[in-house]
Amino acid sequence: MVDRSLDSWLAPALDAAGRRGERRMLTPTRLTRGGTVERGGRTLVDLSSNDYLGLATHPALTERAGEWARTHGAGVGASRLVTGTHDLHLRVEHKLAAFKGTEAALLFASGWQANAAVMPALARAMPGLRVHADRLNHGSLHQGCAAAGLRQVRFRHNDLDHLDALLADGEDGPRLVVTESVFSMDGDRVDLPRLAMIVRRHGAFLYLDEAHATGVLGPRGAGLSGTVSGGVDLAMGTFSKAMGGFGAYVAGSRTLCDYLVNACGGFIYSTALPPAVLGAIDAALDLVPTLERERAQLADLGDALRARLTRAGHDPGASTTQIVPVMLGGADEAVAAQHRLEAAGFMAAAIRPPTVPRGGSRLRLALRATLDPATIDPLVQAIGAR
Ligand code: PMP
Repeated sequence: MVDRSLDSWLAPALDAAGRRGERRMLTPTRLTRGGTVERGGRTLVDLSSNDYLGLATHPALTERAGEWARTHGAGVGASRLVTGTHDLHLRVEHKLAAFKGTEAALLFASGWQANAAVMPALARAMPGLRVHADRLNHGSLHQGCAAAGLRQVRFRHNDLDHLDALLADGEDGPRLVVTESVFSMDGDRVDLPRLAMIVRRHGAFLYLDEAHATGVLGPRGAGLSGTVSGGVDLAMGTFSKAMGGFGAYVAGSRTLCDYLVNACGGFIYSTALPPAVLGAIDAALDLVPTLERERAQLADLGDALRARLTRAGHDPGASTTQIVPVMLGGADEAVAAQHRLEAAGFMAAAIRPPTVPRGGSRLRLALRATLDPATIDPLVQAIGAR
């Protein structure tokens, strides 16, 4: 008898991933206050989370989340255009626009959802749109282009000369340059002033993903988008990393946000963010602009870690931020390094294909402002000498 179960189609794909050493498993892990995680019955120094400022467990966020849930309910019961727009959404969006220095801002359920849904909405209003995308852009940005049926013209990672040359192709029609402020797996950043100049010179538009910059870089931690005169055409970011909570945003002109309210499926057909999530976002927006000292500590930790890794013969790639990779090459080598670190009391994720290209496996060390600088020596020792 023919096996018609869904599993019979899926199991061979899973087995193939296993044979390549790329099968992933879920491991229960609990973030605790003080920059540690509990995992497998052990408490480990956390170098995996994107909780760069330690806000995920901060009482200002957890209290306002609890208070808003108790006062306003666990959910809002509808999407934004039906009955899901509470005063709280509008207040938080107003505060967010002030934080980003833009005319308007719009909340989304997640960064993935925003990127995947905004691009098709833009494409519908811009017939013939061509997207010029950094080769290492996040999967959600690729997803957005694929959903819109857009063919991406990829430029080499952070190679603005290459982008400049690609934009000079003499073709008509609108073009959108899509890139990130800080790249999630490499921890390097875009040269935004130069990028903005190139984009403007070619009459293109700029879509900037600030997922790993929001809370960490720029004046008051608002990301890089406000550091170039005139800002960028569209800045998106998430509240799930340095901002300590959950959800995402798009910031830009009033017309951009009004258009997305009318045309972006991922916004229109998804239930509005619940009060607890809004409470955490609201508290983070109050707190983050005040955390200059923490941002300076984070930058110092990054510098110290890169210097120490280099001295030990390791390659931290092009990192200049709180994300510091240790380039190891093979997936097995990266997993072995993760195990060595775990044995020494550190949690740092091995990043392997398909998240990074084959041969590009690495440890990804994500720093937190509260990490004791004295931890860096034992950490690098545990990775081992090259
Ligand atoms: N953009 C980038 C660059 C990211 O790294 C991520 C998260 N990994 C996202 C978007 C998605 O954000 P979220 O986790 O809020 O879905």
